[in-house]
Amino acid sequence: MYQNLARLNLKNPEDVFTIDFFRDNPHPFYALAKELYPGRYHPTISHAFIALLHDKGLLHMLFTQNIDCLDRVAGVPNEKIVEAHGSFHTQRCIECKTPFPDDLMKDHVDRGEPPHCTHSTCGGLVKPDITFFGEKLPEAFFRNVERVAETDLLFIMGTSLQVAPFSMLPDRAGSAIPRVLFNMERVGSLGRRSDDVLELDACDVGIRKLAAELGWLEELERKWRAIVGDEEAEKQAARTSAMQLTEDLEEADDELVESMATRISAIDLDETDWRPSSLHSPAVNGPIAASEEVARPAIADGVDGGQAAPATSSAPRPAEGLVVADVPVPASRNAGSPGSSHGSSLVKPLGDGQDSNYEPPKPATTNDQK
Ligand SMILES: [Zn+2]
Repeated sequence: MYQNLARLNLKNPEDVFTIDFFRDNPHPFYALAKELYPGRYHPTISHAFIALLHDKGLLHMLFTQNIDCLDRVAGVPNEKIVEAHGSFHTQRCIECKTPFPDDLMKDHVDRGEPPHCTHSTCGGLVKPDITFFGEKLPEAFFRNVERVAETDLLFIMGTSLQVAPFSMLPDRAGSAIPRVLFNMERVGSLGRRSDDVLELDACDVGIRKLAAELGWLEELERKWRAIVGDEEAEKQAARTSAMQLTEDLEEADDELVESMATRISAIDLDETDWRPSSLHSPAVNGPIAASEEVARPAIADGVDGGQAAPATSSAPRPAEGLVVADVPVPASRNAGSPGSSHGSSLVKPLGDGQDSNYEPPKPATTNDQK
């Protein structure tokens, strides 16, 4: 998406999401809003899984960094969603905060035209309730932060966990709460507790695995297809398997490189001191740079020669964020209203004093697609 920003001739692309800049010139934002507006992307099976948890009465709360409303599209109800960086779901005047009607907003976004406050004497600019640079996180985030500690199981799905204070949410889970990460790589403190579970793969792949273990896979697949339609489901499934194929090939590539390295190191290089000494050790991955040239061509046919790259402009947005799920528990644990066991005086806003460091949902999180 930052590529698309280039044509707007901005000194700093992040300006588009900066409140002061927006107040001066909302046009770049509205030029982009059309591309970001809900309706362009479809939920993935991971979004559908969160909705399925809700159907089964197991979803305690969903915290998301996404602004794309795909969880809503999948069927997660408003009261179970905390959009930590806001979303396109609602909009209001940036001056007097008067809400602006959805249908008018859609019109303006379609035309790329900044809307103005409906309040007769105000005329301020209207902005979707996305958290911009220089803005505080939504009140709902701080109000609900303690709910992480109330749950029985925490799923962390598809996130780099790099933006505070959101990134600290998994650490709010007490030591008795198992945490399960569905992500391409380990993030945050996940993996440091002995009962953390790391499912390091594409989020959708991990979620399918879990659903299969639970005996929910068919039900989940049905639900998801009912939401996105068969055609979109096939498209996404093809992309997921292309992604897996690429990963498998990369893995095979690594193995080949390693075996080449071993073989090269087995060659008696004698005293010729033209390579790092690590090359002499069969156990190290050190000489990859040298051996890669040898190994690559064998793989290139498969990877570069026509295999679809997974991250294309039409790739679905991954579910990103955090799901807090209730597994059935003794009634005592969940009795009463949420937070009844936590006096409000105990509720300390997470990341208090960190707002100034807050970075809004970097459009770069959807970067691969633009
Ligand atoms: Zn106003």
